[in-house]
This record gives sequence, C-alpha cells and structure tokens, in this order.
Amino acid sequence: IPVPTLTFNDGHTIPQLGFGVFKVDPAETTRIVSDALEVGYRHLDTAAIYGNEAGVGAAIAASAVPRSELFVTTKLWNSDQGTQSAFDAFDLSLEKLGLDYVDLYLIHWPTPAKDRYVESWKALEQIRASGRARSIGVSNFLVPHLERLLAETEIVPAVNQIELHPAHQQQEVTAFARAHGIQIEAWGPLGQGKYPLLEEPVVVVAAEAHGKSPAQVVIRWHLQTGNILFPKSNRRARMIENLDVFDFELSHTELATISALERSGRVGSHPNDVN
Ligand code: NAD
Repeated sequence: IPVPTLTFNDGHTIPQLGFGVFKVDPAETTRIVSDALEVGYRHLDTAAIYGNEAGVGAAIAASAVPRSELFVTTKLWNSDQGTQSAFDAFDLSLEKLGLDYVDLYLIHWPTPAKDRYVESWKALEQIRASGRARSIGVSNFLVPHLERLLAETEIVPAVNQIELHPAHQQQEVTAFARAHGIQIEAWGPLGQGKYPLLEEPVVVVAAEAHGKSPAQVVIRWHLQTGNILFPKSNRRARMIENLDVFDFELSHTELATISALERSGRVGSHPNDVN
C-alpha cells in the first residue's frame, strides 16, 4: 500500500511517512539507509549536524530507486546561520549527499539569541530560487519566530518540523502553522524512546484491538492527525513495522483517548534555550 503524500503551499508533495537518521552512526548510515530504501521508504530526513549526510548519499547512489521518486531533507546548522555561511553550508550538504538538489532545506533551530533566522531565511529563499532546494522550511520555530518570518520575508515556510507526540502536541504553534498553510512535521514522533509512550495503557489497548504494535498505533495517530513523520530505527524489522500502518484505522474515540495523553511531555530542548 503506497504512503500517502501531502501537498505543500508551494505545490510540491511529500510522502507523509519517511525515515529519520538522527543518531544513526555515520559508519553505519549507508547500510541502515539502504535497508530503509529496500523496505520501501522514499522520504529521508537528515541534517548537517547529524554528520551522516555522506552515508545517506552513498545509500541513495547505490540504490536502484530513481532520484525523482525520493524525497530528501537536510538542515542548516545553528553555527552556519547568516547569508554567505548559509550558502556555503548548503553547498557542503549537497556535496556530501552527492545530489544536485534536495527536496526540502530547513533552518534547524531559530536560535533567537543569535537573531539571525530572518537573515538565514532570506538566504534559503535565494537557494530555493536557484532550484537546488525545491522547498524550504523551518524547524523548532515557535509562534513569535514564525510571525517574524511572515512579516519580514517573502516565502511562507513549507513546513515547521517540531518535537511532537501525543504527550507533547504543541497545540499553539501547530494551530498557527496550519492556519498559515505550513505543514507540521513531527520529530521524536515515538517520544524518542525517552518518553514512555509505547507503554501508555490507551496505546496498548488500541494496539491489541487492531492486532498491531503500540508504535504502529502512535504512527497512525500522527498520520490521522495530519502530521508528517519519519520515525527512526536501526533495525530492519522495526523499519518494516513502522511502515506497515496502512491496513488499519484508529476510531475517533481511540484518537481522542490518545490525544488525552497531552501533558507537556517535552523530551528535547526548549527552542528558546538552543543556540
Ligand atoms: P523517534 O521518536 O523516531 O524514536 C526513535 C527511537 O524509537 C528508536 O531509537 C527506537 O529506540 C525506538 N523505536 C523505533 N521504532 C520502534 C518500534 N517499532 N517499536 C519500539 N521502539 C521503536 O525519535 P527521533 O529519531 O529523534 O525522531 C525521528 C526523526 O526526527 C529523527 O531521526 C530526525 O530525522 C528528526 N529529528 C529532528 C530534530 C530537529 O530538531 N529538527 C530533532 C530530533 C529528531
């Protein structure tokens, strides 16, 4: 069953479910991403700071999947925010990936203390104009950061990639983004293994009811909520499991009981504290 696609405000499309490579060891990345492509993932999420873009690129080069069928995201690291530094960082990412374009390029964190995200966004606008990033977006932006981009720049971000799972739904920024046509990408969709989401009784009960795993139930919750997500696993069996979520549907009641897990269960950093 094919993964559904969502359409950005710029007209490009993205597979709603992909594969993320945060903390995937650079030495193992080619093998792991090759597995992910083999089992059917077509959307890959990496970042310059992960140190594994070259491994992602090697897996893409070795794969029989045509580039046009892949969706690749990478991200501008905090210390490279600016104008020329952003251009240089983007060139280096493309070179490491061995690609002539990425599908999506993101500002990784707003780093408000540096106050360079507006300038960096203008650099990304130029990168998009060059065609070497089909779409551009942001990550870890809060409402005030999005408001400044909307007021001071031309292009509305295609996405905001934020920490989001049933115990940390970020309703304020999510509602604001959706109202402005910005898609939500959920990072740490399974709680990163730090938040005990997969042991929550309502998740376990829904999993048993559908004959699926707790992880599959949480992935379904994201899909049915409209989030884009790319859970990470080094293990091939779990890659297959996390993609095998298109043969069942959560009921409205199940969605509501899982949404009731909200408790500001942030596992990552607060965006204003990251520099
Ligand atoms: P995640 O919620 O996807 O959790 C990954 C962990 O969950 C794995 O290490 C594994 O321990 C466990 N897991 C995976 N599949 C499972 C299964 N089927 N059953 C049981 N346990 C399972 O967390 P993540 O990797 O941090 O987030 C996904 C992706 O989001 C990352 O790989 C990265 O691409 C992106 N990300 C972005 C940012 C950002 O600041 N923009 C931050 C973190 C992650």
